[in-house]
Amino acid sequence: MKFKTDPKKDPLFCMAPWTHTFISPQSERRLCCASREKPSYIQQYIDQDGGDMSDKLYQPLSLEEHWNSDYMKAIRLKMMNGEPVPECEICQSQRLHIYTYKDYFTKALFAHLLDKVEDATHADGSTDWRPRSFDYRFSNMCNFKCRMCGEQLSSAWEHEKKQAGFWSPKDQPWMIPEVRDKIDKFTEDVVEKEFDAAVERGDLEEIYWVGGEPSIWPKHWETMARIIEKGDAHKVHVRYNTNLALISWKGKHLFKDYLPPFKSYQVCASIDAAGKIGEFVRTGLEWNKWLEHFESGVPFIKLRGPDSLVMDLTLTLPGLFGIEELLDHALRLNVKMYVKIVFAFDPSVMMSPLALPKELLVPYLDKLIKRIEPKINQKTMVLLETLQALKERQTFMEEYPNWKDGFVRGRNFMQDLARLRGDGTRGRLRIEDIFAEEPEILRWWEGKYL
Ligand code: SF4
Repeated sequence: MKFKTDPKKDPLFCMAPWTHTFISPQSERRLCCASREKPSYIQQYIDQDGGDMSDKLYQPLSLEEHWNSDYMKAIRLKMMNGEPVPECEICQSQRLHIYTYKDYFTKALFAHLLDKVEDATHADGSTDWRPRSFDYRFSNMCNFKCRMCGEQLSSAWEHEKKQAGFWSPKDQPWMIPEVRDKIDKFTEDVVEKEFDAAVERGDLEEIYWVGGEPSIWPKHWETMARIIEKGDAHKVHVRYNTNLALISWKGKHLFKDYLPPFKSYQVCASIDAAGKIGEFVRTGLEWNKWLEHFESGVPFIKLRGPDSLVMDLTLTLPGLFGIEELLDHALRLNVKMYVKIVFAFDPSVMMSPLALPKELLVPYLDKLIKRIEPKINQKTMVLLETLQALKERQTFMEEYPNWKDGFVRGRNFMQDLARLRGDGTRGRLRIEDIFAEEPEILRWWEGKYL
C-alpha cells in the first residue's frame, strides 16, 4: 500500500496503529490511551459519546480479532492517505499535553520503522506486523484513590463506590458481579496469554506499565523477571506510570536489579503536589514515603539519562497550591518534570483548573508563574510552559453553557467524597483549607458565581 502523504512530515500520521496496542482493565481495546473512540460496552472518561450503553453486552475482542479488524484497517488507510482520524483528535489539538503522544510513537520510539510501513501494509489496510508495544492494563488494582481518577482505573475507588452505594448497573455495568467475573476470566484466559506469547516470542520493543498501579501487580514483576531470564531485556524499552507504592519485589529493587538490563526505561512517578496537598489530591499517598522511594531511584539517573526517572504531574486545581513545593524538590534533586492537565470533558470535573472562572484563574496563574519563573530550569521548564498555556485555554464558563449545572454536580460529588474520606480529620486537609490561601477562590467554591 503506497502512501499518499509523507509520513515524516504529515502532522496527522502516527505509527501507533502499526505498532502499539492498548486494553483497559474493563477489556475495552483502543488505539492507545489518548485516542477518543466509541466504547464497545462502557464509556471511558476520554471516549467519544457511546450513546445509550445500557443494552450493550460485554463481548470483548481478542487481539487477533482486533488488530486487523475493519476498524483498524480503515484507520491505517486514512493515515496513509493523509486524512484526519477523528479518534486522534487529542493529539491533533494538543488538548492534554503540549507534546503529543503521536510524536512519541512516530518521531521517537518507532521512527526506525517509518520507511517500512508501506511494505508492511496491504491494500485493505491490514498489516502482517504484530504489535510490538503493549499498554495492557491487566487490572484496575490500585492502592490510591486520586480524586481526579475513578473506579475504572482504581480498585480502591471501586471498593469505595461499592461500599457507599455510589454506582449503578446502568452507569457501571462492568461492576455487576457476573460481568466482573467475566472480565477477570477474559483477562486471565486471553489478555495475559496474548501478552505472555509476545514476551515468549521475543518481539516486544516496548511495555508501558500503567494501571491500576503496576508496582503492586505480581504480573508486572513476574514479566520483568521473565524477560531478563530470557535474555531479551536489552531489546525492550519499559515505561511506567507508577505511584511508587512498591519499589522492590522478592528482595530485589526496581532501580538496582530489575531495570538495569533493559534497553532503556522511563519511570514516570505520578505526583501532583507536595506534602499534605499532594495527600489530599491523591488519597492514599504518604508523601514522605513517596519521596523516599523516588529518591532511591535518583542515583540511577546519571547512568540512564534525565528521562529515566521523572516527576509526572497532572495539573489539578487544588494541586496548583502545592506545586511550588514540588518544584523545589525537583530542583533540589535535579530531576525532570513532565506535565499534563487533568482530563476535563465535562464541566463537573471540579479537579480541573479550568473549573475556575477566567478572572480568577489567570491572576492566580500569573502570581504562581511570577514566583516560580526565577527558579525554573531546563528540566522543569515544561511546568512553566504548561501554566502559561493554561491561561489561554477556555474555562468551563466559556466552553460549556451548562457550566452551573456542572459546578453543582461536581461540587456535590467532591463534598460527598470529603465526607467519605474523612477530610479534615486525622491531619487531613479539606479542599476549603487549600483554597483558603486565595479568598476569592474560596468564595467561588462557596458558590459566589452561581
Ligand atoms: S495519533 Fe495520538 S491518539 Fe491517535 S493513535 Fe497516535 S498516539 Fe494515539
